[in-house]
Amino acid sequence: MIIINTIESLQKQLVIERKAGKTVGFVPTMGALHEGHLSLIRKAGRQNGLVVCSIFVNPTQFNDKSDFDKYPVQNRKDAQMLEKAGCDLLFLPSVKEMYPKGFTQADPIDFGFLTATLEGEFRPGHFAGMAQIVEKLLLAVQPNRLYMGQKDYQQAMICADLISRRKMKVELVVCPIKRETDGLAMSSRNRRLSRKARSQAPEIYKTLKWVKREFRKLPVNHFATQVEALEIAATDKLQADKVFQVEYLAIRDVNTLKPLRKPGQNAVAVVACWLGGVRLIDNLEM
Ligand code: AMP
Repeated sequence: MIIINTIESLQKQLVIERKAGKTVGFVPTMGALHEGHLSLIRKAGRQNGLVVCSIFVNPTQFNDKSDFDKYPVQNRKDAQMLEKAGCDLLFLPSVKEMYPKGFTQADPIDFGFLTATLEGEFRPGHFAGMAQIVEKLLLAVQPNRLYMGQKDYQQAMICADLISRRKMKVELVVCPIKRETDGLAMSSRNRRLSRKARSQAPEIYKTLKWVKREFRKLPVNHFATQVEALEIAATDKLQADKVFQVEYLAIRDVNTLKPLRKPGQNAVAVVACWLGGVRLIDNLEM
């Protein structure tokens, strides 16, 4: 695996690879890698001649400075894991490399409701920063395929919108959530959980599965009200022991993330909650 730190050398290398007829699969990450990330790398490896991964802890998408400061960095270990999983090129730029002219964005996209709701409501500015860096990385790598996890449901939807609005020629491949054996969605933040909190964390996925079962039983009359009642019941259930503090637990339309209005719409339950000082997110399609 080649490790490259500048956009210029990255592009030189990519010219050589493309001349050899390789398609490029790209997996952007913030490092502190786990099996979830590696599943994206492996999928990219099955579908492309060249797998590029980036590790960049992007300052502009952290609305909470202490979350940025505490974000785990383990580049050497990550590089070993990537090589084993079949990554060919690791792009590891500095902040200066990605933001040579500072953080101000010349032509930001207004994603409207998609960035205003759910994560957008509780992490103001997060998606603007995320879209800013994903666009920069896509312009640098120009991949054929972009791999993202369903774990960050709203993020993947916003990236699909970004690609379509900027008319980029890249196929977005959204990959399923990798979970621990007890159901907890893998996340770089899980390692910040205390042993006690880690043992309580599977309750999040259990609640989502309960929501799915109850959702299927909902009567069709006054459907929107029934859905709201289920959201409240699920929030109360997860918060019952005062271990979790829920920011949102919502059942939304998979295409728009808007509240459901009638039965038959494809839906996803999304949740964000705090557990022992760590913010966790998860989701489940209904
Ligand atoms: P991050 O390093 O957290 O920015 O994540 C990089 C990519 O890995 C994103 O597209 C995430 O959605 C994806 N990802 C993170 N956790 C998981 C997981 N448990 N399963 C599948 N993909 C994941």
